[in-house]
Amino acid sequence: MVTLTRTIQTLAEIDPCDSSTLLQTMEEYRIAAQTASDYGYNHKTASAIKIHHQTDTNLRKTTNLPSQLICASRNKASEVLKSLKEKKKKSQPHFKYYLPIRYDRRSSTILPDQSLVTLASVKGRIRVHYQIPEYFKKYGNWERRGIELVYRNKLFYIYFVVEKKIKDSKIHSGEVIGVDRGIKNIAVDSKNHFYNGKHVRELKKRYFRLRRSLQKKGTRSAKRKLRKTRERERRFQKDVNHCISKKLVGRSQHNSTIVFENLKHIRASMRGRKRMNREFHSWSFFQLEEFVRYKAKEKGIIFKEVDPQYTSQKCSKCQTINQKNRKGYLFRCQNCAYTTDADRNAALNIRNDYFNDSIKLFLEIEAPIIVHNRKNLAEVGISIFSGAQISSPNVAS
Ligand SMILES: [Zn+2]
Repeated sequence: MVTLTRTIQTLAEIDPCDSSTLLQTMEEYRIAAQTASDYGYNHKTASAIKIHHQTDTNLRKTTNLPSQLICASRNKASEVLKSLKEKKKKSQPHFKYYLPIRYDRRSSTILPDQSLVTLASVKGRIRVHYQIPEYFKKYGNWERRGIELVYRNKLFYIYFVVEKKIKDSKIHSGEVIGVDRGIKNIAVDSKNHFYNGKHVRELKKRYFRLRRSLQKKGTRSAKRKLRKTRERERRFQKDVNHCISKKLVGRSQHNSTIVFENLKHIRASMRGRKRMNREFHSWSFFQLEEFVRYKAKEKGIIFKEVDPQYTSQKCSKCQTINQKNRKGYLFRCQNCAYTTDADRNAALNIRNDYFNDSIKLFLEIEAPIIVHNRKNLAEVGISIFSGAQISSPNVAS
């Protein structure tokens, strides 16, 4: 079984006088989390129980929080300390203002028929109405795990965390799709699909021109406008990424494998670009990856990354590496004259590289097959994968 988790964000409707109570609750919650975290940090422990014994009595006296929220804030502190420990970071956590509050069954009640939740606060229960957007309705039958109260840009939100267990099928479909991410085309897959409409490119050009003229002006209002433009561009890019990831996953079979190039390779190849553009593209590439990851999981698709070598210079047909193979958007092999779109050739290389890596592993684990010609390894890989039924752990390893 695989557990899928989603967070549904909904705007909360709160009575103005209740807003101030909730903000006060958030502030006291933050102080409680900070106190718990400081104790843990100073005494070198991340254990929720140890922190509880030493801080609980005091927090009950100094805050107006109900005990469940003191408990939740301490658990939050403990989690943060644990994750810092795992990452081997020594910095002391500082919780920011309006720390989201995590509610469980004891501190909240959900009444879905009335689109209403009641939340514990420093002054008893508070009623909060919410609206679940249409596109989230498909999660209606998922199990609710908990809720969070979030305050952002002067608005309250209720986040519902839902999950669903799905059967983990072991039979791999035999399909492996390589995906190349780029700037001209946001994505190109090895099945010859290009993901970037003409209107996307045109809109991006328009944003680019707008940004450039605003940057030239340099006045304060231009700077503000520039920030807003960036925000709008981000929202637009997010929609595009949602759309691309949906199509990409939709076109892949159940229990197949999608392979991306490791992001650090892409970052390295973007070195020449302007810093702001580079950051924007990195962010966008990462977001696309996240979207594909979770959409793929729902369909039993395995998501993999490879560290490819010479993706853009290597011929996907004969494996010859030559700098001259690529001329702008066109790929033309100097050795075998294979000609195709440069991004598509890269997508094929990403797929082949994954095969080469996983075939080596597969041969070590399962089959005593001797591959004579290393050049044809990828092709052998394809025949092995599509011929036999391979359980996904092998493919995934
Ligand atoms: Zn070639």
